[in-house]
Amino acid sequence: MPRILIEETRCKGCGLCTIACPRNLIILSERINNQGYTPAQFANDEKCSGCALCAEMCPDVAIEVYR
Ligand code: SF4
Ligand code: SF4
Repeated sequence: MPRILIEETRCKGCGLCTIACPRNLIILSERINNQGYTPAQFANDEKCSGCALCAEMCPDVAIEVYR
């Protein structure tokens, strides 16, 4: 099953990946990471298609996609 891994320590909470995902599987967490941002969080790992649009959109290369 495809899935993504978000490296929270690299994430600056810009939210671009939440917009990029056509299935709306990524949300911004309410937690604060070590940089002081609210990091992206994979909200639903059962519907991921592995399309990698989220990873392509991330300016900080914080998302890895596994197919
Ligand atoms: S790989 Fe595609 S479907 Fe999966 S979380 Fe990223 S954008 Fe969404
Ligand atoms: S696009 Fe990258 S830096 Fe921006 S919220 Fe998503 S994972 Fe974090």
